[in-house]
Amino acid sequence: MSSSAAFIVGNWKLNGTGQGLGQIRSIAEGVQDAPSVRVAICPPATLLSRAAQVIQGSKLSLGGQDCHPEINGAFTGDISAEMLADAGAQVVILGHSERRAAYGETNTLVASKVSAALRAGLEPIICVGESLTQRRSGEALRVVVGQVVGSLPSEAAHHRFAVAYEPVWAIGTGLTPTLNEIEEVHLAIRSALKDIFGPAGLRPPILYGGSVKPDNAAEILKGQEVGGALVGGASLKAEDFLAIVGAV
Ligand code: PEP
Repeated sequence: MSSSAAFIVGNWKLNGTGQGLGQIRSIAEGVQDAPSVRVAICPPATLLSRAAQVIQGSKLSLGGQDCHPEINGAFTGDISAEMLADAGAQVVILGHSERRAAYGETNTLVASKVSAALRAGLEPIICVGESLTQRRSGEALRVVVGQVVGSLPSEAAHHRFAVAYEPVWAIGTGLTPTLNEIEEVHLAIRSALKDIFGPAGLRPPILYGGSVKPDNAAEILKGQEVGGALVGGASLKAEDFLAIVGAV
């Protein structure tokens, strides 16, 4: 675990209607007494405004799951970083492996979305991670560091952002790397951040994501350079998500 406050982020993906607002309310109530943790929930964009009302005055932050690089224009179906901020978001997940795989998002596109998020005053959480084939062929560090270098615009040095290491093969599968494997990648990411940004590269938290659950969170969060967690499935139920927050 690193020295600054841990950052725990829930990614609801394509889940959640108005009925889910009760879970968000419970999470907001549950994190009030957790001083050494920053917590954010990223519901579908359709819930952001209502969630912002429900959690008003709490220390829970809200986030989007993607944004378009442009502020506005002829981009049917897309949402800009400014729109997310207007709806109540403070953070945004970018470059998630599901988007890299399903929508062909490249490092260059992710970097332009990171610039957009910074322009709108959002804290981007940039996801990186290797496939199982890449891990088995010994390429995990090269792939992940390449994604970090390619997905971060230079102006990020002057802003708050986080990196999330999410091995693709661990997302939604119940599989997790060993703590040594997680630490090896997190140390490589930290070293890449220092190479890119100098001393400013020491600041961004490096989150781990991929099948984080209440029963493995404490062990994972102990890891060197593990500054928090990005949680998918286990963030949908307030009880499970709060147990992960409580493991910090
Ligand atoms: C994710 O999608 O970012 C994620 C980590 O999912 P899960 O926790 O369900 O593996």
